[in-house]
Amino acid sequence: MKKFDASLPRKMFWSKDVGGKEICPECHGRLERERHTYMLFTQEGRDFDSFVVGNDSGYFCARCPVVVLDYEAFAESAMVGKPTSGSFEFTVPGIVDLDAIPEDKKNIPLGEDDNPIPLMKFTNLFDNGDTRRRRSRDRRRKKRRKQRR
Ligand SMILES: [Zn+2]
Repeated sequence: MKKFDASLPRKMFWSKDVGGKEICPECHGRLERERHTYMLFTQEGRDFDSFVVGNDSGYFCARCPVVVLDYEAFAESAMVGKPTSGSFEFTVPGIVDLDAIPEDKKNIPLGEDDNPIPLMKFTNLFDNGDTRRRRSRDRRRKKRRKQRR
């Protein structure tokens, strides 16, 4: 059982944007590190990809629904197996709530048609209003989804 429930909607901040991983940017409470599973979207030129990664690079606030992600650690995961040249971008849309997967589906690979990834999206992710475009991209990409844990 995790201390920080993956099914709780949270705001996400990058460590590089808020000056570290110790203090909550919203309430100034102390952050606590915990292992969780995340969705990662990558874009390299016109090539999109998505995968699931488990790590302990998330720092959670005990007082409010905020998580600060270690930018360097996620950038490293996102770039595994990618060439170092050219334009490359990545996004972490949310936490994968592994506890939401029914017991009888746990042996089916995540992301298969009968076992969709239970993604709890970060609440501040699509503040820039391009939600719909990203969703349709996501659908197109589905067949290429693979797992790395
Ligand atoms: Zn807080």
